[in-house]
Amino acid sequence: MIIKRALSSSISNFYDIIITGGGMIGSVLACKLASNPVFRNISILLIESGPKKPWNIELTKNKDNFSNRVSSLNNNTKVLLQKINVWDIIESCSCQDVSQIKVWGPGSNNISTTFDVEDNFNLDHLAYIVENDVLIAAVMTALNNYDNVHVLHDNIVTEYKISKNTEETVKLRLKNEEHIECNLLIGTDGINSKVRQAMDVQYLSWNYNQKAVVATLKIERLKDNNTAWQKFLHSGPIALLPLADEISSLVWTTTPDYAKMLLSLSEESFVDALNTALWKEPIKDVFASSVTNIVSAVLKTLNIHEKHEEIIPPTITQVLKNTRAAFPVGFGHAVSYVIPHVALVGDAAHRVHPLAGQGVNLGFGDVECLDSILSKYFLIGVKLGDIRALREYETIRQRCNVPKLIAIDFIQKIAGNSWSPLLATTNAGFQVTDAVSLLKKFFIDRAAT
Ligand SMILES: Cc1cc2nc3c(=O)[nH]c(=O)nc-3n(C[C@H](O)[C@H](O)[C@H](O)COP(=O)(O)OP(=O)(O)OC[C@H]3O[C@@H](n4cnc5c(N)ncnc54)[C@H](O)[C@@H]3O)c2cc1C
Repeated sequence: MIIKRALSSSISNFYDIIITGGGMIGSVLACKLASNPVFRNISILLIESGPKKPWNIELTKNKDNFSNRVSSLNNNTKVLLQKINVWDIIESCSCQDVSQIKVWGPGSNNISTTFDVEDNFNLDHLAYIVENDVLIAAVMTALNNYDNVHVLHDNIVTEYKISKNTEETVKLRLKNEEHIECNLLIGTDGINSKVRQAMDVQYLSWNYNQKAVVATLKIERLKDNNTAWQKFLHSGPIALLPLADEISSLVWTTTPDYAKMLLSLSEESFVDALNTALWKEPIKDVFASSVTNIVSAVLKTLNIHEKHEEIIPPTITQVLKNTRAAFPVGFGHAVSYVIPHVALVGDAAHRVHPLAGQGVNLGFGDVECLDSILSKYFLIGVKLGDIRALREYETIRQRCNVPKLIAIDFIQKIAGNSWSPLLATTNAGFQVTDAVSLLKKFFIDRAAT
């Protein structure tokens, strides 16, 4: 039985589910659970350490400033956001469709792979570029429609009591000394998750000794700015993600020292450095060139035609004021996502390099899966927090996430590497993927699910 007692901050002392971390994953998870008819009578608390940000849809629609934190969302994520009725709002405020993705490496501007939505992928668009803040604000607004969820900003859990006894609830103490309990605690508190630490599960992690420099850019006027560009350099990839007609978002992964230097440059010098990095002709590598010729000959023998399209990226004309920032990038994976009464979702459970634009999409996959499994077990009378349901969630998500984490880590290690055999392998990868449409479909399917 649920006993609710009012506390000073108008929250109860018991919730069926407590979610800590109101970023993109925590807010969407709260909304997905709250909107699920199966959970109409359960109580949910979402705790976010940051302040509540005021949001005005009309101002957001008509704005001309763009946040430097954006995400490339895949089709599955769009469907999830449609289910919780926030996609239309996000789309009307800030969302640029991606119909082409052009990827090339340090070997040659003629060796590249182009993914085009017209290549019969059965998708309306390859991806959608959305500002993170807009997504969170739209979801937080939608949460007001549900009276089974309470959002607490500016607060954190300072103490976690997680018992090994499966009958006991999870007991939490908040910053303001209040005590609350729940049947199920879900950690969506990001890469340094305190919930994960309290669970005391093994966490496999490493840093890439790279930083991702982000910025909002003005680019030369293009007819339609619907192409995402990614160039792999020896120091890391540079990605340009379309945001509006003449605006793109930058994610430039490079060494920590170079990232620091890029942040210290004047705006003009930064733009010059970026254009040079995008346009610079590669240094010829004799071994890699001969492997490229052999691959071309093999493809020709197999009657597979190469397009040999030369990549011509857009010219950057300006970096918008105060939009440059740098973030560390790394790999992380919790060996267990669950223990009795506790689960991890999103970056709290797994962290990937941003080169494939997959991090938050994997987290949204976790959200969809956890909601569906919890409701399946709840309907047959199994209590929230029961380890059987949580284990099923963990198994399904690890089967999906682990191969992707490994593949992205592998790409990070070989693409852009200057050692001749790896350069040759990267070039061959671009050549073959570009020429074989089944391979392209394979990659797009994997990225969309
Ligand atoms: C440069 C860069 C570019 C990226 N681009 C893409 C992309 O294009 N596509 C993609 O899919 N992914 C991308 N990612 C990854 C994506 O940003 C993350 O996967 C995503 O932000 C994870 O969301 P989350 O809600 O799990 O965690 P977070 O975004 O880290 O949110 C965690 C939330 O929890 C709150 N919090 C933290 N600790 C506590 C606590 N103790 N109590 C309460 N609240 C707490 C924080 O304030 C925050 O709001 C990118 C990452 C980087 C660094």
